[in-house]
Amino acid sequence: MSTLTLKVLFTIGFLSSFVIRIPHQRENRNNKIARDRKTTQEMILLLLVFIGMVMLPWLYVVSPVLNFADYSLPIWANCLGVITFALALWLFWRSHYDLGKNWSPTLEIRENHTLISKGVYQTIRHPMYASVWLWCVAQALLLPNWIAGLAGIASFGIMYLLRIGNEEQMMLEQFGDEYKMYMQRSRR
Ligand code: SAH
Repeated sequence: MSTLTLKVLFTIGFLSSFVIRIPHQRENRNNKIARDRKTTQEMILLLLVFIGMVMLPWLYVVSPVLNFADYSLPIWANCLGVITFALALWLFWRSHYDLGKNWSPTLEIRENHTLISKGVYQTIRHPMYASVWLWCVAQALLLPNWIAGLAGIASFGIMYLLRIGNEEQMMLEQFGDEYKMYMQRSRR
């Protein structure tokens, strides 16, 4: 596929993720925070992911400055990227839907927070992060560039490794045995 086609496909997927998230962001605006785990580490990780999954891909889409680091991929790999992106968006939508008012962009417990263990949360403990992993793979397959393409995997990989333990610890403190049992019957 041509670079332009790939950039257009990436842009469509990127904008779709905003459309999916906007209603949840609106809904959550009035949903008060009961416990906040927004540490300096968490803020740095969010900035890192913003650079890797928003800034660098967009720099590649709108300007030629990163073109020196391009690689080429066969068409089947691009097609795999489209399929992976579609799957990522579906899982992103579905996990927002299942999490409902309990969703937060960072580590927080909301007032009246409930533990969700149904829908896509039944067997996967972190389906939203699973959708971001799929997105990162799609980013590498749709933006054939060593910097813009791989920045997603690198930045989210670091965030995932450093956040996941803290998030599960926060959930254990909030829900105790209920979360412990959920951990036993689900997988990360
Ligand atoms: N890690 C989850 C959720 C990401 S959103 C996923 O990948 O799908 C992050 C927020 O979701 C956290 O701050 C936490 O408050 C909340 N959360 C995580 N798992 C949850 C669950 N099973 N039920 C309810 N809230 C959850």
